[in-house]
Amino acid sequence: MRSLQRDFHRQVAIDGPAASGKSSVARELARRLGFIYVNSGAIYRAITWYLLQKGIHAEDSDRIAHALESAAITCCLQDSESRILIDNVDPADHLRDDRVNESVARVSRLPLVRQIVGQKLHEYARSHDLVVEGRDIGSVVFRETPYKFYVDASPEVRLRRRAAQGERDEITLRDHADFSRPVSPLVIAEDAHVIDTSRLTIEGVVNKIIARLKQMGLQI
Ligand code: C5P
Repeated sequence: MRSLQRDFHRQVAIDGPAASGKSSVARELARRLGFIYVNSGAIYRAITWYLLQKGIHAEDSDRIAHALESAAITCCLQDSESRILIDNVDPADHLRDDRVNESVARVSRLPLVRQIVGQKLHEYARSHDLVVEGRDIGSVVFRETPYKFYVDASPEVRLRRRAAQGERDEITLRDHADFSRPVSPLVIAEDAHVIDTSRLTIEGVVNKIIARLKQMGLQI
């Protein structure tokens, strides 16, 4: 079997639970490395929003399969960041709606949905160096990349961060669903470097990651 890695550019995987600081860290890291920033959670959120718009419930796997068969899901780039269009509509303003927060973990446990998002992420990797944030990036989607980080923070810090963003997001429930699902659960990849962001600034975390990447021989 051919190695996936050979067909792709370089990927830095940033996994971790909700509100662990992944997005801010991954975006800043991508900027400093000159890589593309890809938010895989946003693709799961966009699909969830699309299904909710159509009145399809997260448990209705038959209707979900049918709807996604005909949906045009386009993953493109804007200002060096991933952007998602579904049937030519950009749902960016709705990705953090309460109802998306409530349903996304149930939609994202479906194997078909995971397969669609996985393919989109691989498409990005065919033409760009990436920093990708998510839950299963180092363990499943780009498991062959040596550049894997798992960022975490104490539950109190994560709850405080979410509340400061003014969102109603039951991160404890979402984390439980993400950790316990049978397909691609949130795990710490064996070869991932774990960073506790509780007492670090974004810059502090990014500096640590860059130092580690240099140590590992990533040419930047
Ligand atoms: O990263 P974010 O919190 O926006 O992700 C929203 C949800 O999308 C997660 O709670 C999880 O259910 C799902 N997700 C996933 N795998 C990823 C990224 C996100 O299952 N790689």
